[in-house]
Amino acid sequence: MNEFNTCIMCGKNHKIQDAGDFKIYFCDNKRYKIHDSIINHKDTIKVQRMLNSIYDYVKRVPFNYEGGNVSEYLSFYYEETENICNVKTLVNVYQLMKQYPLNVIERIDKIMYNLSQKYPLLSDTFNILEIEKNEYRLLYCESVNRTKEIASIFSALLINEFIELAETYNNDINKNRYRISIKGWKYLAELTKKYDVLNYGFIAMSFDPSVEYIQETFIKAINQAGYEPRIIKDKEHNNYIMPEIFHEIEQSKFVVVDITKPNFGAYYEAGYAQALGKEVIVCCKEDVFKSADTRPHFDIVQKSMILWTDEKDLIFRLKRRIEATVKK
Ligand SMILES: [Zn+2]
Repeated sequence: MNEFNTCIMCGKNHKIQDAGDFKIYFCDNKRYKIHDSIINHKDTIKVQRMLNSIYDYVKRVPFNYEGGNVSEYLSFYYEETENICNVKTLVNVYQLMKQYPLNVIERIDKIMYNLSQKYPLLSDTFNILEIEKNEYRLLYCESVNRTKEIASIFSALLINEFIELAETYNNDINKNRYRISIKGWKYLAELTKKYDVLNYGFIAMSFDPSVEYIQETFIKAINQAGYEPRIIKDKEHNNYIMPEIFHEIEQSKFVVVDITKPNFGAYYEAGYAQALGKEVIVCCKEDVFKSADTRPHFDIVQKSMILWTDEKDLIFRLKRRIEATVKK
């Protein structure tokens, strides 16, 4: 049965279809499913955060929404596990939530970025009423009183001069039209620069020829996730870490570490990255991990890791993990 309802995702009136435990959303040219347990979760703020995360993901991750049948639509569910599901269309919102902007400054950065994507021209203007109706997820709104929440965000942006008044309607804050100010655009340029520098994914692993194929697979997955792989080629350091490695790790957004072939340097690099608060993604070939003879001995095995079977599986899981957990 098809139902036309006000969409909790985009705020528009459109088809929302029942599909078992999921509902299918037909937002603009996108189609995706959300599991009922997300929408029915008892913590109402968490529900909004989960929906904001989904909205963000659908917006930034390319997916062919037109092709295929219902079973091929992206499906969002929530499960508190670090394991990456190997079904291509299933996305665990628990993992997406790791990049949720809980901190005010991060949230303002993301809001400014979203506004600049939505209103990219100097002449583009917007007002609270429109945003409240259709674009409130761009602002990561999570309160029950959305009008008040958006008004506070606008005040914060105005006080910081990130946005400015473009047209006034009797000075009604809800109807006045605003635009991103020159100061706001400058801030965005700084923000992009800051994040561009960090658009690297560092690979920490043994340079033994037997695992060269793993390194090549890491490179492919990191590239496909939209990052630039960083690797120190002349890694003759064995048991000591060169300063340029520290520098590369500091410049990277995340580190992928292979433990299929244990390596002191790689463990050390992973530890250093972890201490800096970077996302560390540990990968191990499944048969090596499951065999008592070859199972890596290290504290690192307690970390959630990607267990993979072949290169194709590794590319998929690693790309998905990067997309889900690394803050853009
Ligand atoms: Zn919608």
